[in-house]
Amino acid sequence: MTIRSMRRLLLVAAVLGLCAASRSAAALSVFAATKGLQDPHQVQARPALIARLRNADLAICTGAELEIGWLPVLQRSAGNGAVQPGARGFLAAAELIALKEVPTRLDRADGDVHPAGNPHIQTDPRNIALVGKALTQRLIDLDARNAEHYRARAADFEQRWTAAIARWQTQAAPLKGLAVAVEHRSWVYLLDWLGLREVGAVEPKPGIPPSSGYLAQLVTELPRKETRMILYAAYEDPRPAQSVAGRINVPAVALPFTVGGTDAAKDLFGLFDDTVTRLLEAMHAGRS
Ligand SMILES: [Zn+2]
Repeated sequence: MTIRSMRRLLLVAAVLGLCAASRSAAALSVFAATKGLQDPHQVQARPALIARLRNADLAICTGAELEIGWLPVLQRSAGNGAVQPGARGFLAAAELIALKEVPTRLDRADGDVHPAGNPHIQTDPRNIALVGKALTQRLIDLDARNAEHYRARAADFEQRWTAAIARWQTQAAPLKGLAVAVEHRSWVYLLDWLGLREVGAVEPKPGIPPSSGYLAQLVTELPRKETRMILYAAYEDPRPAQSVAGRINVPAVALPFTVGGTDAAKDLFGLFDDTVTRLLEAMHAGRS
């Protein structure tokens, strides 16, 4: 089956994983604006991205203000009406998800908070499924002539994805109830999905580095809460997590966070295969 009217599909930001999904689901030309080891909070509005956006039929981002510092600038500069907010060619994934950690008050003293709620939705594969469905519908809206192609690819992806989710849940069952600490609060969707408990964060407030007083308090508190490991994203500086982990004698665990975050996280399936494997390995390593 041929794809006729779609020229290019642009995917940006932390939903980089969806880039892989749409390549297999829709067989379109896909361009990712971010790389696997890039901090999604710190993307720059590179001029090269403007040209990509200018020719795009569809742009997808995480939303929830994660890309607020750069994507609106690119959208304005690109002058492509098809991918502006509100257009059919613009999809903000977070709008499809019930966001967690929505702040009840906003105060800059609380750090670089995510004012719309925690945007790191791609760490729960069930969210990926929801976004995949919406993405398919958008593709059909934009390119009705190829609707059957999109539907068939989406059905194939959904079947494999549902089976994989069941497999990951079975593998991860021993992790249920485990207490973990995190570096940045990137993992609430993953932890809720697998039933782990977040009992502390090395970063006291988002985007604010810990003081020595705060770290001393953390080192006393975390063992009392039976913390078993400290999680950080592969793109993050591992030193704060490793330092605290060393002092309380638990493993510090790098998780891929998105596609390309680790060698094994080559695609969406690899992302969660590797995440679950690393959590289980850390659980066994920490048991002495
Ligand atoms: Zn964040």
